[in-house]
Amino acid sequence: MSELIAFIGVGNMGNPMAENLMKAGKKVKVFDVSKKMIEKAKEKNLEVAENINDLITKEVTTVITMLPEGKNSKEIYLGEKGIINKVSKKCLLIDCSTIDIQASIDIGKKATEQGIEMIDAPVSGGVMGARKANLNIMVGGSKEGFELALPLLKIMGKNIFHAGNSGSGNGAKICNNMALGISMIAASESLMLAKRLNIDVKKVHEIMKNASGNSWPISVYPPLPGLIDGVPSNNNYRPGFSAGMMNKDLKLAKECADQVNAFTPLGNIALDIYNKFCEEGNDTKDFSAISKVIGGDAWKYSID
Ligand code: NAD
Repeated sequence: MSELIAFIGVGNMGNPMAENLMKAGKKVKVFDVSKKMIEKAKEKNLEVAENINDLITKEVTTVITMLPEGKNSKEIYLGEKGIINKVSKKCLLIDCSTIDIQASIDIGKKATEQGIEMIDAPVSGGVMGARKANLNIMVGGSKEGFELALPLLKIMGKNIFHAGNSGSGNGAKICNNMALGISMIAASESLMLAKRLNIDVKKVHEIMKNASGNSWPISVYPPLPGLIDGVPSNNNYRPGFSAGMMNKDLKLAKECADQVNAFTPLGNIALDIYNKFCEEGNDTKDFSAISKVIGGDAWKYSID
């Protein structure tokens, strides 16, 4: 059977990931509920489907999803028109969305019951990582599923990890993003403090990149403009990775921590800060825009 990849959700991340598969010579067909995203996919010469029924046929050998939240993944895989009931038993299912662990486990379990291999494979590395095909991909699922998916994951990413059973990929991703949310706020506080101390921010940034205060937000994705080309802070904070998505991930981290009685005070503070930022209408801005409200005249988001 010749290979056919059905890719669902071609937003900020899915679009470049699908494009990389196509450029690697794979036959890819995509679908998104957003007309704007469908147009963007067409601009990249990706073949598009009119709807899910048009996309999911017995000829599909792999389904890859890159959707916002657990409810979207559940709807696509398990809902009324759920694709688990439509694909052939030989089809491999790969959910790259960052979603709650339980949703991943539920979808994986249903797939296993139907004799279909399914992995959760959330990614980190942002839109730049997706474009450059050097994402970190953390997989939850069986060893067989991991090995089956590996050749495709290697096209989209660089460091591919098998984290453990179904749901473990998302568990690892949630831990990672809790640290990212905290470190983006930390980077914003430091650079804004430098600004208020009237020290050249470019110099402080250069120093921090080489000193013990370095982090991914400092070295790759600085929250202030004028430090690294091509990042959202230089593009009016267009995402990138939206503040709404970070808020979702910090909520997922808190839910996990509560379930297992883990003490995560900084994760909770980061959640409060992003929550308020999103409530004030900033959810579609890049998450690095948090620097706009950090370290300014007033500590707007003081924690009770
Ligand atoms: P996005 O909102 O840009 O893209 C998601 C796409 O899914 C949208 O185009 C939306 O229209 C589409 N969609 C939603 N429901 C659908 C449905 N039922 N059928 C078809 N399409 C549907 O989001 P994104 O930034 O690409 O992120 C996707 C996932 O990847 C999220 O879970 C996010 O947390 C994770 N992630 C994002 C980044 C990043 O930097 N943006 C990095 C790592 C992981």
